Amino acid sequence: MLKIDGVTRRFGDVTALDGVSLEIGQGEFFALLGPSGCGKTTLLRIIAGFETPDSGTVTLDGEDLLAKQPNRRPISLMFQSYALFPHMTVAKNVAYGLEREKLPRDEIKKRVGEVLETVGLSAHAGRKPQQLSGGQRQRVALARSIVKRPRLLLLDEPLSALDKKVRADMQLELKRLQNEVGITFVVVTHDQEEAMSLADRIAVFESGSVRQVDAPVALYERPRTRFVADFVGANNLFEGTVGGPETLAAGEFGDLPGTPLGELETGAKALLGVRPEKIRLAESGGLRGAVLDVSFYGGVSHISVDVPGRVKPVLVAVQGAGTVQPGEEVSLNWTAGDAVIIPVDQ
Ligand code: ATP
Repeated sequence: MLKIDGVTRRFGDVTALDGVSLEIGQGEFFALLGPSGCGKTTLLRIIAGFETPDSGTVTLDGEDLLAKQPNRRPISLMFQSYALFPHMTVAKNVAYGLEREKLPRDEIKKRVGEVLETVGLSAHAGRKPQQLSGGQRQRVALARSIVKRPRLLLLDEPLSALDKKVRADMQLELKRLQNEVGITFVVVTHDQEEAMSLADRIAVFESGSVRQVDAPVALYERPRTRFVADFVGANNLFEGTVGGPETLAAGEFGDLPGTPLGELETGAKALLGVRPEKIRLAESGGLRGAVLDVSFYGGVSHISVDVPGRVKPVLVAVQGAGTVQPGEEVSLNWTAGDAVIIPVDQ
């Protein structure tokens, strides 16, 4: 439905976007994920029409989107700051866009009623924004964005102003809503957990380029580059060369078991990534190290283990409370199926 092809945007010496191509399907919940400054907001602004690319094309349903004025694009935007009108009631805030389009009053009333019902705010229609919680204000902003029935809703870091608990609720809410209204959502975020929990597919950006586009599970389990392996979720990375069919020869750490992703030639430089929850603590075998720290998070505990020769400790995640103490010697075990071996890309 949305096709971005070879989009480049430079600001002086900075290349904010470097030949980005993406295809986003009808009804998809799509995330643009990457660290600060990687170009994701610039792409969102190009889609919305606040920015023009130096080269490349963007089409929506086969039509040239870049040729249309921002207000002629069937697109709504929801920003970090909700920018609700403080003097207007919730219902008025939501109705505002439709009133500007001079829709019949009955139609506006009906649509506003429906959309407030959808976001669970019917009982608060007469309140002013300052009489609402952060999460409720967020819902008003959402209601206002979807009431115009856009083809595409762009969300820029939509949950970053909310505290952790409200955020988790709103993530669920956003997903439910997206499902219900069937509008294509494109969300920009630097928070990989947020992207993974919300999106059907994620494009990972680094320095103006897309490094990988995949469903959350595929991105987590089969990262294709060092950057993606490191950026998406916690990971323990080891450098080395491809040993046997299922090993990385990792110098002083010996032969580490892992599954190569794709065709990797023996002797080629490669990286092994093993997720914290895939490592088992044992008495012997595998890598040896000393427990540095145990942090309890309720459902899981994170144990960091100092393995001689490594700069970064190895991170292990276990269910419930950890059974080891700082200073204790442990062995770190995993099987080839628990780790991936990927080519070194830089
Ligand atoms: P953040 O999460 O911090 O918003 P981002 O990934 O969205 O980051 P962009 O805002 O797209 O990144 O910026 C990409 C690069 O382009 C950055 O180096 C930024 O400084 C630069 N940039 C963006 N807009 C402009 C502008 N109007 N003028 C000059 N440089 C800009």
